[in-house]
Amino acid sequence: MSKIVVVGSNHAGTAAIKTILGNYPNNEVVVYDRNSNISFLGCGMALWIGDQISKPDGLFYADKESLEAMGAKVNMEADVQKVDFDNKKIYVKLKDGSEIVDSYDKIILATGSLPIIPNIEGKELENVQQVKLYQNAQEVIDKLENPDIKDIVVVGAGYIGVELAEAFERKNKNVTIVDIADTNLPEYYDQPFTDLMKENLSSHGINLEFGQTVQEIKGTDGKVSSVVTNKKEIKADMVILSVGFRPNNALGKDKLDLFRNGSYLVNKKQETSVADVYAIGDCATVYDNAIDNTSYIALATNAVRSGIVAAHNAAGTEIESIGVQGSNGICIYDLKMVSTGITVNKAKKLGLDVSYTDFEDTQKPGFIETENPNVKLRIVYDTKTRVVLGAQMASEYDMSMGIHMFSLAIQEKVTIDRLALLDIFFLPHFNQPYNYITMAALSAK
Ligand SMILES: Cc1cc2nc3c(=O)[nH]c(=O)nc-3n(C[C@H](O)[C@H](O)[C@H](O)COP(=O)(O)OP(=O)(O)OC[C@H]3O[C@@H](n4cnc5c(N)ncnc54)[C@H](O)[C@@H]3O)c2cc1C
Repeated sequence: MSKIVVVGSNHAGTAAIKTILGNYPNNEVVVYDRNSNISFLGCGMALWIGDQISKPDGLFYADKESLEAMGAKVNMEADVQKVDFDNKKIYVKLKDGSEIVDSYDKIILATGSLPIIPNIEGKELENVQQVKLYQNAQEVIDKLENPDIKDIVVVGAGYIGVELAEAFERKNKNVTIVDIADTNLPEYYDQPFTDLMKENLSSHGINLEFGQTVQEIKGTDGKVSSVVTNKKEIKADMVILSVGFRPNNALGKDKLDLFRNGSYLVNKKQETSVADVYAIGDCATVYDNAIDNTSYIALATNAVRSGIVAAHNAAGTEIESIGVQGSNGICIYDLKMVSTGITVNKAKKLGLDVSYTDFEDTQKPGFIETENPNVKLRIVYDTKTRVVLGAQMASEYDMSMGIHMFSLAIQEKVTIDRLALLDIFFLPHFNQPYNYITMAALSAK
């Protein structure tokens, strides 16, 4: 039996805690989290802000009481200030201001990530908002009640910025997205797909100011009034900073080995460079099967899986992560896009020699008389080995389950030629006899 301390109990920490107590109930699990809530699904934030769901209650799937019912000792609003890795001690500041010292046999760091706040003048002005925590979302929702907030500028056109832009437009605000890149979602999609999303946003009246650097946020009476880029000044009653996240490595940065972006470098058992110290979720690296190397991909899905792997290892059962592909999805108005692995653009940046094959067709046969949207597909593969390295899909149809197959193909190093001969069933209610996956793979040069 070990005493396992878990620092951070959002998605990664909660998965670890549940796995330890569900499988190895004899261990003592002590949890510290500086927040007042557990397991907030940030992915539902835009739905809540945009009134697509009426309340946030369903955005939580665990709480202090449910973890305590499993046997954990949970300390909320308890900020771990320091870890003495040599003597296995932690120093914690509690809600009432008092400080305690606790000890551990094993420690799991699940301290997540923090929003990147660009160093621009005016970032402290009122109504310049961050979007990470439940509290951040609640604050934005409260402020939107004020009818004077009409113009909103979202800085950063990653998936969070794009989702929030839709939410604000649904609330009848004038919305502008600014990004230094000349497009949106460039991390996950190639140009034919990012162009689709651009058209989608523009057609709903969202103003896109891409290829511009924010230089200053201006204010009047302490409140934000405009955003100044290198090309123009844009009126703003609220500014959302969504330029990305950085790993929260405050507790271990001086002792543990770090990846190039500062995340804790872990092996496939989630072990850090110091014995009995594990790191999971957004504060740690992942093994990326698409590039066959260590990488950093901050997603709740990766957080949960890494928490499960660390929990088994910390409790004494050795298991290894099978790696990740960075599978992700986004749905803006009716446009659904999903991707996994690497894009052609990312492959170029990494110096990888890849080819790709594109195909677009209706989901179901032409004789189907009900609504039958097109699906656009790109498969990326290694030019020499022909192993599948990535896929992107876009449609108004919910074709999202298809991307899981590509995720498995990347994980299992399937070639594009084997994919062409894959047994894919046909029923007109669902798909075509020569469906787009087969056709794309068959047409690969
Ligand atoms: C708006 C938004 C939308 C998202 N949408 C998606 C999506 O659709 N799909 C997806 O897969 N991912 C999505 N993500 C990403 C996902 O939320 C993160 O990858 C996930 O939260 C990571 O979980 P985590 O537990 O590793 O870290 P975090 O969620 O960052 O949690 C870290 C926890 O550690 C605690 N902590 C930190 N330091 C200390 C300390 N010193 N002492 C005590 N406690 C500490 C914090 O209070 C926090 O509870 C989204 C994120 C946001 C913000």
